[in-house]
Amino acid sequence: MNDPKELIERLNDEHSLSKEEYIFLIQNRTPELSDYLFERSRKLRELYYGKNVFIRGLIEFTSYCKNDCLYCGLRRSNKNAGRYRLNENDILSCCDMGYKLGFRTFVLQGGEDPYFTDDKITKTVYAIKSRYPDCAVTLSIGEKSRESYQAFFDAGADRYLLRHETASPVHYAKLHPADMDYENRIRCLYDLKDIGFQVGCGFMVGSPYQTVENLANDMMFLQKFRPHMVGIGPFIPQHDTPFGNENGGTAELTLFMLGLIRLALPFVLLPSTTALGTIHPTGREQGILAGANVVMPNLSPEEARRKYMIYDNKLNTGAESANGLASLCKKMESIGYRIVTDRGDCKKY
Ligand code: SAH
Repeated sequence: MNDPKELIERLNDEHSLSKEEYIFLIQNRTPELSDYLFERSRKLRELYYGKNVFIRGLIEFTSYCKNDCLYCGLRRSNKNAGRYRLNENDILSCCDMGYKLGFRTFVLQGGEDPYFTDDKITKTVYAIKSRYPDCAVTLSIGEKSRESYQAFFDAGADRYLLRHETASPVHYAKLHPADMDYENRIRCLYDLKDIGFQVGCGFMVGSPYQTVENLANDMMFLQKFRPHMVGIGPFIPQHDTPFGNENGGTAELTLFMLGLIRLALPFVLLPSTTALGTIHPTGREQGILAGANVVMPNLSPEEARRKYMIYDNKLNTGAESANGLASLCKKMESIGYRIVTDRGDCKKY
């Protein structure tokens, strides 16, 4: 077809490729091509965001979930999962600690837990925004009605993360039980954007049954939807799920996808995720060097962190904890980047 380097140049200049071109690029990647890609993705990232790395304080406030996603350790059928909920006071304490450390974005993430009614969520969002008007609040609590999303927005929530997981409906059906459907997930993303949230979508790399065509579909979806944020990380098996014996995704392919995403969406807020840090000791740093510009250390209390095990061996100490922020700063400095403490909004869109 084409020279893969030429395709990278075109993606760098025009920020879009066809599905077939993405397939070709992913299939023909080599260590040399990856380096070629990362040189460009780093450059583009530095053009818009310099050497800054934004931090988000992640608060995993409930491990209860009514859903049964086949890959996730929090799925309702997992009887071995440790379950907990943080109340509003607990959540505010996490924010207090985070604020003192310099966090100006708080991400409330959890399973889809009916205990947390819209009323409870809006009250908590309102409480955080009242106490910390200079901070952004991000929600990541799954699929809701448009009315619920509107209520969260009206209460002051700024951003919403909802990974689409895979932009291929047939693949989506293989990762989820029959009562979840791709159309609704996409409906949620468009509602969120329409309401005015800064929206994040994303997918797992190397999830069971995933093909290169699926990944190309993910890139096409990103080009079309133009999210403000994209969360991707390798799939990591969790032993108490139906996918417990499947292979995990690789750091190598995850990094390549991060590079492609940076070129397709130059302004995007792109985390170097915990999952990437979990499968490779320097995964976090390599993610930044491939074009990522966000890290999301955990602010949850220690016991909660231990129980929020969406996949095996999830990092929950060291640089993943708030106490480890200093060591995370050092890691970033060791590769020539610096953690900054502003809200870190998306520059455009
Ligand atoms: N309930 C919320 C938050 C889910 S946890 C929601 O539905 O949006 C955040 C993300 O973790 C998920 O979107 C999924 O992409 C990822 N995840 C879940 N299980 C995983 C696994 N086994 N390996 C890697 N990532 C996983």
